[in-house]
This record gives sequence, C-alpha cells and structure tokens, in this order.
Amino acid sequence: MKRKIAILGSTGSIGRQALDVIRQHKDLFEVELLVANNSADLLIEQAVEFDANAVVICNDAHYDKVFAALDPHYIKVFTGMDSVCELVAGDNVDMVLTAMVGFSGLRSTVAAIKAGKAIALAHKETLVAAGAIVMRLAEEYKVPILPVDSEHSAIFQCLQGAGGNPIEKIHLTASGGPFRTWSAEAIAAATRDDALKHPNWSMGAKITIDSATMMNKGLEVIEAKWLFGVEPDRINVVVHPESVIHSMVEFADGAVIAQMGHPDMREPIQYALGYPARLSLNNKKLDFAAIGSLSFYAPDFKRFPSLSLAFKALEKGGNAACAMNAANEAAVAAFLRGELGFYGIAEVVRRTMEGAEFVADPTLDDIYATNEAAYSYAERIIEKL
Ligand code: MG
Repeated sequence: MKRKIAILGSTGSIGRQALDVIRQHKDLFEVELLVANNSADLLIEQAVEFDANAVVICNDAHYDKVFAALDPHYIKVFTGMDSVCELVAGDNVDMVLTAMVGFSGLRSTVAAIKAGKAIALAHKETLVAAGAIVMRLAEEYKVPILPVDSEHSAIFQCLQGAGGNPIEKIHLTASGGPFRTWSAEAIAAATRDDALKHPNWSMGAKITIDSATMMNKGLEVIEAKWLFGVEPDRINVVVHPESVIHSMVEFADGAVIAQMGHPDMREPIQYALGYPARLSLNNKKLDFAAIGSLSFYAPDFKRFPSLSLAFKALEKGGNAACAMNAANEAAVAAFLRGELGFYGIAEVVRRTMEGAEFVADPTLDDIYATNEAAYSYAERIIEKL
C-alpha cells in the first residue's frame, strides 16, 4: 500500500524537496493533493509529473490558467483556503505535509488534524501561534505529528532510542546565520542581500531572514516546547556553525545523544514521510575526516535580540507567541520590501508584544483575532519607523 500524501506548499523550498524524496521512492508514495499560493507554472508541472489527483491554487487569479492546463490530464483544480481544508480531510489522504509560509497555514493544519490525518509538520507557525490547542487536538484525534524542521526531526530521532526516559535537556543547535561574526554596528547596517545569504541551508526568503535575526531559533524553541513537552529552562540554544549536529538530547546521567548529517532538508523530510522507515537518499554523506572539527558557542542575545523576545513570549504564555509571530511576519515582509532596517525587525516585534492584548487561555478564534490585531499593530509601528 502506497502512502498517499498531500503537500501544502508544494512549490516552496520544502515542497520541492519533498517531491524530490517522493521522486526517488515512487513505489512507496502517491501524490494525492498539491497546494500552492501563486506559482501556477510550477504547480502545473508538478501535478503532471506526479499525476496528482487534485491541486489547489490559492490565488484565484491563476485558476483559469491552471484549470486549462490540468483538466486534459483529468486532474481536479480548485482555488481558495476552504477547498484546502476540505480536500486535506478526504478519505484518499493518509498524510499531510504542512509547508506553507506564514500564519495562514494554521487553518488547514487544524482541518487535517480533525480529519485524523498524520501530520508531517514543516509549518512552524502552527505550534508557535497555537501550540497548546494544536497539541490538545492531536491527542484528541490520535494524530501523530512528525517534525520536519531539521532540529526537531533530530530531537525526535534521538528520542527513538530513549526507552521512555525523560528529557533532561534539549540542546537546540543554530548555525548562527550570516551575521554570526558581525559586530552590532555592521548588523544594524545589513541589507536585504546580506541577510539572504545563509551559510549552510538553502531555504525560502522568510525563514532565511528569520535565521539572520535568529528569530527562527526562537520560533524553534517554542516549537520544541510543544512537540516534546519540555519547559523553556530545559531548552538550551547552542551556536554550531557547521550545522553537522542537527540537535541533541541530554538525559539524567549526563549522556547526550546527537543526530548528525550533511545539512540537507531532504533527510528530515524523508524521515517524516517514511516514518518509521529510513529511506535511501541520494544526498551527500558525512566525511568526518574532511570536516575535521566541530565548534560550539553560546548565543549572543544582545546582537540577536529577537531570540530573547521569543523566550519572553514563551514565559508569558497565552497568546503572546502568536502576537510575536504576527509582528515578526509583518516586520520581515517590510524588511524584504526595503521599508525597515535590520534591527527594526526586533524593535517592531518588541513594541507589538508590549501593545498586544493578552489572553491567558486563548481559543482558536482568539488566536486568529490576535494574529490579525498584532499584524496591523505591527504595520502601524512600521509606518512610524
Ligand atoms: Mg530549523
């Protein structure tokens, strides 16, 4: 029996690499549904190559074009978020890979969980904005959430041999991004192009900027808390520029288990899609003698204030991380448009967190409302800056 996969965000970086994994294992997987926002041409190409059953092009301006191209192939074409929520719940879907950009992916992820679909989670915002609710739902509907983020996949892999022993500490590794060795003055003057040059990982623009501010690591700390049920004081961020160790778990006796590999997102993707099987992959393998040495540093919360904001949001709980995430999305978009300086991103996030209305035990509706309110609050601050 082939595993039938829905990919939300198939034309993005994670989506394309997931299809490459599937391309190497067509005997194991079937592509049921592909969802993209705007990249109509690539979506058409993917749907034809993988003979998808259906696609959703979220931006309806591209609907006619996609329909005209795929209808002759008997591939169903839909548009809009409601279609995504309906289709992920279909009987012919076994697993949903959530790889959309931004908060808007939360609704469809919740729909997939409520339909009892296994989740391969690449969409960080799901747990950052609504971790308590989503984990509760996953338990209620008995849905496995398999992490795709490389650090969380690493922790998940380390725990496979843990025999149920509790986690003493998680050591979450961070590459440090392109500005790891830059002075605060140089970082303050960093341009869009500087920030988009990630040393190790090839990723989309939003997450690459988040890596440069280290907000990405902050989001991952929050993600780790929910996925593995550990308190923030048990999560230690360690800068590891080589990105060979993808994260580590420490136990009560001081033993530390690390997961390593060449930095290539297809590895954690194959682990989630094929779980519990490990699939062969045509990726680069580690050559330890060629690597020579690995290095580790403590993170610098002063030069990277976004990271401490994430710890603050986690401490505060409730809807604080949702507000933080919304402000960060607005600020990163403004930075990419050239309307905000690099440190302006953290400033916008900080001020929005201060100004946002706090809800201690938010419902999903509260989360949607917080996201909207915090996003527009952040946009007003951006205008003033
Ligand atoms: Mg990561």
